[in-house]
Amino acid sequence: GDIILRAEGLKRSFVTRKPLFGPATVVQAVDGVDLSILKGETFAIVGESGCGKSTLARLLVRLIDPSEGSVWYDGADIAQLPPEALRALRSDLQFIFQDPFSSLNPQMTVGALIEEPLITHGIGDKDERRARVDDLLTRIGLTPAHADRYPHEFSGGQRQRVGIARALATGPKVIIGDEPVSALDVSIQAQVVNILEDLKEAFGLTLVVIAHDLAVIRHMADRVAVMYLGEIVEVAPAEGLFTAPRHPYTETLLAAIPIARVGPRRAKARIEGDLPNPTAPPPGCRFHTRCSHAQDRCKTERPTLRDLTGRQVACHFAETLDLTGLTGGDAAR
Ligand code: SF4
Ligand code: MG
Repeated sequence: GDIILRAEGLKRSFVTRKPLFGPATVVQAVDGVDLSILKGETFAIVGESGCGKSTLARLLVRLIDPSEGSVWYDGADIAQLPPEALRALRSDLQFIFQDPFSSLNPQMTVGALIEEPLITHGIGDKDERRARVDDLLTRIGLTPAHADRYPHEFSGGQRQRVGIARALATGPKVIIGDEPVSALDVSIQAQVVNILEDLKEAFGLTLVVIAHDLAVIRHMADRVAVMYLGEIVEVAPAEGLFTAPRHPYTETLLAAIPIARVGPRRAKARIEGDLPNPTAPPPGCRFHTRCSHAQDRCKTERPTLRDLTGRQVACHFAETLDLTGLTGGDAAR
């Protein structure tokens, strides 16, 4: 398919000072990411918390600036765009936040919240905007009568649906969701995921979803990128990634999925060892301190993301390792 969004050599570091008054240290939250997102797909970015996936998501729509690298959209490097041009682009690239409560202004009615981006971008007159708000409310399973109510009058699931309607108001091409359902009760996650998928279909959207819940990802994603300590270690079609991982870290992540979400027979495995200090990532392969397949070479030589059949993997031994994915009862969740 056509590439709609492409990251090249993307890096972002943060300075942290810990403990208090201690020396400043630099965290490479995103450390050299190359990535292509295809028009119309649902692309997921997964990894443990602290791996840099939320930072990467924000870089992709330039909610934050990269330290280095480019993000190509519609022929322009959005990492270089001046504020005016960036503002115009905002209507194409929208973000859905994790916490629907804190991302919605409690003083504004739901109708005003959905209408606000239309006003900001100068879209439509008052009547047209009102019609757009009513249409979006209906599409997220509410009614036009809900426009005059306030966020606190709604459940968490309804508020996240309002957040989605607000993101959709300007008719974006790409929606990026950072853990869009993980703050919600498991019982209503499916509802919100379904609405997101219906809207994606209806508006021909491209979705980028950040999540740590692999069950949600497996359900939604066409392709998945796995991140570890600021780097992408594997990119593959979702089903292939889940049933036949090619990077040892992907295998480890899959083994850690809780029993109840994947099938009755699998014991919950833990990811061995702590995530290394991100201010001082291990040399060589960053995963070598936790990898059960590590060889001497892994301690010194940093693997790059290489093309394998149908996927990309950053592991010296990707071709030969015999890894375990989700199979049988696990796969049929
Ligand atoms: Fe494990 Fe070595 Fe592969 Fe890294 S390069 S994932 S340490 S086998
Ligand atoms: Mg996060």
